[in-house]
Amino acid sequence: MDDFNSETDSDYTSYWRDWFISSRGNEYFCEIDEEYLTDRFNLTGLNTEVQYYQHALDLVTDVFDFDCDDDMREAIEKSARHLYGLVHARYIVTTRGLAKMLEKFKKSDFGKCPRVLCEAQPLLPMGQSDVANTSPVKLYCARCEDLYNPKSSRHAIIDGAYFGTSFHNILFQVYPAMLPPKSQRRYEPRVFGFRVHAAASLARWQADEREKMKERLRVARIETGFEDEDEEDEDDLGEEDEEMELADAFESAVVQH
Ligand SMILES: [Zn+2]
Repeated sequence: MDDFNSETDSDYTSYWRDWFISSRGNEYFCEIDEEYLTDRFNLTGLNTEVQYYQHALDLVTDVFDFDCDDDMREAIEKSARHLYGLVHARYIVTTRGLAKMLEKFKKSDFGKCPRVLCEAQPLLPMGQSDVANTSPVKLYCARCEDLYNPKSSRHAIIDGAYFGTSFHNILFQVYPAMLPPKSQRRYEPRVFGFRVHAAASLARWQADEREKMKERLRVARIETGFEDEDEEDEDDLGEEDEEMELADAFESAVVQH
C-alpha cells in the first residue's frame, strides 16, 4: 500500500473499519463515519491516551503507510483498536451514532434480557465508567432496569469505556418510544402453591409501596410509564402523611416475620 490514492489500493485499504466491525467479538460496535474520524475536533485529547496515536489513526482511517516489523505492526494494531473504542464512545452519542446503535438494538445485536419476566427485551451495552481500563462492558435492560454480564467471553472483555456511562440513557431520551413499558410482574416464591413467607411478605410490602407511590404520582399528574395492570384497588392515599405511611408499612413488614 505505497500509494493510497491509486484505485486498487484504496479498494484494499478502505477496509480496516469493515474488518474491525465484522471481526468476531466486535458485534457491539457500529461503524464510525469517515467524516467523524477525520475531524480532529472529535479526537481532542485522545493523543495522550493512545500509544502510537498517529500511526493508529492512520490505520483506522486507511492511510497507514509505515514500514515496520511485525511486533511494531501488532502494537499499532492494538492501539488502533483502542483508539477506535475511545472514539466509538463519543460517536454513539451523536445523532448519526445513535441512529446506528438504535438499528442494532432493534435487531437485538446486544442480546436479550435473560430475566424470564422481561420477555426477551433487547439489551444495550454500557460502561460503568468513562475511564478506559476500569471495568468491562455490561448490558442494560430498560425493562427491569438492571445490568447483566455479556454471555460470550469475547464480549465480556470489551472495555466498558468504549460505550460509556451515558449512551444507553441518551438513546432512550432521543427515542422515547423505544422505552419499554415498566413491568410490575415479579416472580413470587411458592412452595407447593403456598407463598414462602419472608420473601413473599417483603415482596407484598414492596408492591404496596409501589402502589402508594404510583397513586401519589397520579395525584401529582406525573407520567410513570408503568403498565396499567391493576385497576381494581383504588386506595385514597394521596393526602396522607407520607412519612408516617412509610414508617408504618415498614414496621408492619418487619413485624410480620
Ligand atoms: Zn430485564
